[in-house]
Amino acid sequence: MQCELCGRDCECKPADVDGVRMMLCPGCMRHGKGVKETQASSSLNQGTFPGRIKKPTEKDVYKDMNKELVTDWNEIIKNARKKKGLTREELGFKIGERTVTIGKIENGDLRPSDKVVKKLEKELNIRLIEEVKSVSDVSVGSQSARGLTLGDFIKKEK
Ligand SMILES: [Zn+2]
Repeated sequence: MQCELCGRDCECKPADVDGVRMMLCPGCMRHGKGVKETQASSSLNQGTFPGRIKKPTEKDVYKDMNKELVTDWNEIIKNARKKKGLTREELGFKIGERTVTIGKIENGDLRPSDKVVKKLEKELNIRLIEEVKSVSDVSVGSQSARGLTLGDFIKKEK
């Protein structure tokens, strides 16, 4: 290969001379800026971001799966209260909650806290907490009396 500046036959290397790419011998290299030929600009940006892939977090998925409020807890509370002949005000007084709160709970607008659930269960003699079966336990014959499938239950919970 010949040097493009002096024409000498040598091991020339690419260099930048006033913006022009030329092949220069070691003697002429000082006239230009050295160019690293391995720096192909296109292949630089690929696959060089370690640590960007997030592992899916599985925490807390099954945390609340064992005991859940029954699907129509608000209806159960309302019906049980009426059976006992209590007004919302009276029920609220018995369990130490405001009438407005009882109303919201019965409308399904407010999910009662565990504490309130326990008080309601005791006061109205009802059951609001049920064990949630794991999916493998669900077979064709294990639908509840209300005809709800586990799928219905999950949909409602969301
Ligand atoms: Zn030269």
